[in-house]
Amino acid sequence: MKLFDPHIHMTSRTTDDYEAMASAGIVGIVEPAFWLGQPRTQVGSFIDYFSSLLGWERFRAKQFGIAHYCTMGLNPKEANDPRVAGPVLETLPRFLQKDGVVAVGEIGFDDITPAEETAFLTQIELAKQFKLPVLIHTPHRDKKHGTERTLAIVRESGIAEELVLIDHNNEETLPAVRASGCWAGHSIYPDTKMTEARMVQLLQRYGLERMVVNSAADWGKSDPLKVPKTADAMRAAGFSHSDIERVLFDNPVRFFEQSGRLRRADLVEQPVDQSELFEGNSVLRGQAPRRS
Ligand SMILES: [Zn+2]
Repeated sequence: MKLFDPHIHMTSRTTDDYEAMASAGIVGIVEPAFWLGQPRTQVGSFIDYFSSLLGWERFRAKQFGIAHYCTMGLNPKEANDPRVAGPVLETLPRFLQKDGVVAVGEIGFDDITPAEETAFLTQIELAKQFKLPVLIHTPHRDKKHGTERTLAIVRESGIAEELVLIDHNNEETLPAVRASGCWAGHSIYPDTKMTEARMVQLLQRYGLERMVVNSAADWGKSDPLKVPKTADAMRAAGFSHSDIERVLFDNPVRFFEQSGRLRRADLVEQPVDQSELFEGNSVLRGQAPRRS
């Protein structure tokens, strides 16, 4: 069974996580640019972070046989910080040209402020200009209203809805997203938001089309194996092998293929050569390099 995690922040995770993900069948991931838990005070911090998503982190994933792609964007929370918002938006075009970037994101609302709305609209325009899909974060507070505002903005912007993935859905937000042409993402967290069991119920109720599941694992309490764990829950509920692969591999791959920068043919078991270096640096600490 091949699996794909379309939303995971590996910068905050360990090599143990990469090993466990690869042995659970994850062959590819998308790492959205996001908020790091503490405000950045200058645009240079974003430039180095964006560069590391395209460089070191991509290399690290490859060392464990996982294909790494990323999305670039000014996250909603820091859209409210005038020290960085404008300069980051000006810097984005040069990163949106890069080959490993498969969408603009994650963008959208956090507190639903005017500054967030401006950054949101500006970045949808960038996505149109660069012919990229868009990954949209929905707020944790006032979620239903935030999702409705999000859908209204998507509609006003005129971007094709099949290029839009609206993430972090739950039972309350999903009906409106399903009624649109957008894709629906679901983040499975330990003890909160969405569980594997609730996800299975949503798939039974709404079907498999345009449905996507991720771990959204980051530096907080989260679990990078939530996609394989959802596969287990689907299997236990009677979904077939091909249904499971459709939701947990085919769907996210089809969504990000729209960027023209993710090729299904690259998502096979990759040879690993841990003797490789990235700018002179290795993931090893004196261990024997694994080659396969
Ligand atoms: Zn995220």
